[in-house]
Amino acid sequence: MATQTPMKTIVALPGEGIGLEVVDATCELLMGTGVPLKILTPPQGSPLPDETKKAAREADGVLFGAAGPSTSPVVSWLRWEMSAWAGVRPIRFFPGMRSPLADPDGIDYVLLRENSEGLYPGREGELADLVNVMPDLSDRTGRKIKEFGDEGRFAVKIVTPKGAERIARFACDLARKRRARGKPGKVTCITKSNVLPRTDGLYQQTAERIVREAGLEFEHFHVDDAARRLVRFPKSMDVVLCMNLYGDILSDLGAETAGGLGLAPSGNFGDDGWAYFESVHGSAPDIAGKGIANPTATILSAALMLEHMGMGAEAQRLESAVGRIYRDGKMLTPDQGGNAKTREMAQAVLAAYR
Ligand code: ATP
Repeated sequence: MATQTPMKTIVALPGEGIGLEVVDATCELLMGTGVPLKILTPPQGSPLPDETKKAAREADGVLFGAAGPSTSPVVSWLRWEMSAWAGVRPIRFFPGMRSPLADPDGIDYVLLRENSEGLYPGREGELADLVNVMPDLSDRTGRKIKEFGDEGRFAVKIVTPKGAERIARFACDLARKRRARGKPGKVTCITKSNVLPRTDGLYQQTAERIVREAGLEFEHFHVDDAARRLVRFPKSMDVVLCMNLYGDILSDLGAETAGGLGLAPSGNFGDDGWAYFESVHGSAPDIAGKGIANPTATILSAALMLEHMGMGAEAQRLESAVGRIYRDGKMLTPDQGGNAKTREMAQAVLAAYR
C-alpha cells in the first residue's frame, strides 16, 4: 500500500499591499497542486490577536506576504518575538528572468542575513542622554562623544558572540548542504570591520573561526567591496553571510541582479525548527491593488516552506514549474516584460506543476 504524506497545516498572513494579491494567488496555486495542505488565514490586526499567534506557533509552516505601516505588528511578532534569527535569501537566476546583467546564467547563491542583532529593530536615543552616561566614549580618532554637543541622536549596534556563532553555524550547515549538491561549499562573510573592528570585527572573527573549524572555505569582504562583487562576480558566490543591515540592503541588490525584487524568496528560521517564509519585497504601494505584482517571490517562498515541512520533492517540482514559466516567457507579469496578471501567472505555474 502506498504511504500517504500526512496533512500539513499552513498559516497564511498576507500583510498588506501586494502581499494580499501574491499570497492569495500562491495559496490558490498550493491548493491546486494536490499537496495535502490545510491553509488557515487567521485575523491580522494590531496588536496581533492571540489566536493568530497560537495558530502560527503551532502550524507546520507560516507564509507571510508583505509588511507595510498597518501590518508591521505581524512582521514584528514573526521576526522579533518568535526570534526568527536566520534569514535565508536564495538569489537564483532562472533563464527568462529579466536580469540587468549581460550574462546572468548560473547565478545561484544564498544570502544569509543575521536577523536579530546589529542595528535592528532600532534602538535610538538623544545624544544628550548618551553624553550624560558615557561622556568619555570616543571614536577611533580619539574624538569624544561630547564634542558633538548634545543636540543630535544616536543608534546602537549590537553584536554578541552567541548571535554571531549561531548564524555562522547556520551558514556552515547551508554550505555543507549545497556542497552535497555540487556547489563549492564556501562562506563569504560581509562586514565593515575596518571601520567597526570591535562589533563587525567580532562577527567576522567568529564567522572565520567557525567556518574554518567546519573545514569549509572562508572569505571576507567589506560591504562596499562586496556590493560591487555581487554585481560583477555573482557566480563566484555560494553562501553569503551578512550582518543584519548589510543583508537587508544586499539582498535587494542580489534580487535585482537575478531579475528583480518580485523574484526573491526568503525563509526565516528560529529556534526549535520554527520558521516563517516571505518574499524579500515589501508591500509596493505603487502597484498594490492592480493585480500585476509578480507572485514568483512568494511562490518560491512557498517552495522553501514545503522543503522545510519535509516535502522536498514537491518543493523541487514547484521550483521547476517556475523555471518552465520563465523559459516559456508567455505568462509573465509586467515587471518581467509580460502582460499577465498575478493570478494568471500563478495559475500558469500550477499548470506547469501538474
Ligand atoms: P515597503 O515600504 O512596504 O517595503 P516599498 O515600495 O518601499 O514598500 P517594495 O515593496 O520592496 O518597497 O518595492 C520596491 C519596488 O519594487 C516598487 O517600485 C515595486 O513596484 C517593485 N516591486 C516590489 N515587489 C514587486 C513584485 N512582486 N512585483 C513587481 N514589482 C515589485
